[in-house]
Amino acid sequence: MVRKMGFYAVLAYVLYGLFFYWYLFQLPEPKLPFEYQGTKADPTTFLNGRELMLTEEYSKIRNLLFFLSTPFEWLFYFLILLFGFSKAFKRWAESSTKYKFLHTAIYLFWLSLFAYIATFPLSYISYSLSKTYHISTQSFPAWMKDELIDFWINFGTWLIIVPVLYWLMKKSKKRWWLYGWLLSVPFTLFMMFLQPVVIDPLYNDFYPLKDKQLETKILAMAEKSHIPAKHVFEVDMAEKTNALNAYVTGIGSNARIVLWDTTLNKLNDNQILFIMAHEMCHYVEKHIYWGIGGYLLLSLLGLYLTYRLMNWTVKRYGKEFKIPDVRDIRSLPLFFIIISMLIFVSSPFTNFASRYQETRADQYAIQMTKNPKAAISSFQELTRSGLSQVNPPQLVKIFRYTHPSMLDRISKLEEYEIKQRNNE
Ligand SMILES: [Zn+2]
Repeated sequence: MVRKMGFYAVLAYVLYGLFFYWYLFQLPEPKLPFEYQGTKADPTTFLNGRELMLTEEYSKIRNLLFFLSTPFEWLFYFLILLFGFSKAFKRWAESSTKYKFLHTAIYLFWLSLFAYIATFPLSYISYSLSKTYHISTQSFPAWMKDELIDFWINFGTWLIIVPVLYWLMKKSKKRWWLYGWLLSVPFTLFMMFLQPVVIDPLYNDFYPLKDKQLETKILAMAEKSHIPAKHVFEVDMAEKTNALNAYVTGIGSNARIVLWDTTLNKLNDNQILFIMAHEMCHYVEKHIYWGIGGYLLLSLLGLYLTYRLMNWTVKRYGKEFKIPDVRDIRSLPLFFIIISMLIFVSSPFTNFASRYQETRADQYAIQMTKNPKAAISSFQELTRSGLSQVNPPQLVKIFRYTHPSMLDRISKLEEYEIKQRNNE
């Protein structure tokens, strides 16, 4: 039975992978709708032949990696359960020390280490792909250093969550999901508060804008939207990537707008001001807080479903998965599978909400700067330097796109430009 289940799981994963290979590589590319051809959103008007080809190639492989990696995690944890690794990790933990409070930590370490090793090839392929296409500029040791920081931050976070979770399960078999959720509210807020000042600086350096002339312009605009000057930062990304970006992060007194130095290096002042105005909308309209609110609501539902699904699975397949009881730490891989599946399934909805905020931010930015030429060219440059797909296939858009496609974004700006010209 166990072997059969393992075989079918691998088979399902392979078929799933083949489906996406067919969908992304064999199906004819989505054609640019007639009404967009020759407009400023049409990539053939602003990318040269080589860039067009690279964009298509690179995005296809990236998209395939995206669709392969999450279900690969499910398969990994499934096999960890099925072939008794979870049971073995627990045994190793118990035999390595007599201190009971360390058992969960040691179990978690083995599980995290095996998961890291299993997913390493996909991460490495993704890194070297990005390097081949000259997006990533990071050396292997520098990339590996970031990977290790990732590993320890993940491990540390789960080390806080997991013991509390299993303690709650033991205290209340029927309500642990609710108590767990209640505790996750202050924890999430605390982590969001710490993120920009404790976690992010482990990876990069953050500092006030270097270009003082530009800073004056940016801060003047920020003042119009009542954003304090000390909340605007530059980060050194040039040694890691050629892509451009800017984002809003943190909550409360740690809320801030961060501009990648690559963005500052490659765009002119008017283009940067447009990008900055876009980020200011996120800041002013408190999109982060809406995001956290939505996340907490979804996680309440998610934890309840996890509780139900875990009980059902252990009752039905407890023997095959070698989980005697939901409250046994051996069920942790099952917990990870279910959480990851729920996140994957809900991503079309969360992406949809995010695309709505992004559309608003674009509108705000163009109203603020009233310079569609700079706005359009900044998006064209964003596309070029990140080799991003202007008009992605439908499933990619639904599962991957937290921003509207560049086709949508640029054509909206062009509409504004035409209206502006007609009003003159
Ligand atoms: Zn945005």
